[in-house]
Amino acid sequence: MTIFSKIIKGDIPCYKIAETENCFAFLDINPMVRGHVLVIPKREVDYLFDLPDSELADLQLFAKRIAIAQKKAIPCQRVGQAVLGMEVPHAHIHLIPMQSEKDMLFSNPKLKLTEQEFLEIAESVRKNL
Ligand code: AMP
Repeated sequence: MTIFSKIIKGDIPCYKIAETENCFAFLDINPMVRGHVLVIPKREVDYLFDLPDSELADLQLFAKRIAIAQKKAIPCQRVGQAVLGMEVPHAHIHLIPMQSEKDMLFSNPKLKLTEQEFLEIAESVRKNL
């Protein structure tokens, strides 16, 4: 079972943003910026583009809903989307509130946030869903 499946199951804690029957969203624990969210299918598939069309479309539409809420909750120019999957073999979309394109550089040092900051960010995104 992947670490993300354990998060969905509730065996590993996360800062949850939202879920549907087939999708789940939570804060990235090593955020590039405040409000960095991961959107994942509940079904354990390693590579995003191995998802059947209908599941990929469902996930992307779910990501759109989250990105709209992030844009309202987090001061940013727009929300960028990225797919890497080099670390966790469970398909996921990164949604990153950007002030500039530099915010999308995955080689940047990651933010260190307190538990309280994570909780407040998650709450503010959730409130804007
Ligand atoms: P990648 O597979 O290269 O797209 O990167 C995986 C992402 O998952 C990284 O940004 C990690 O910070 C994030 N990540 C790994 N474990 C957790 C976790 N337990 N909770 C939240 N985010 C995680």
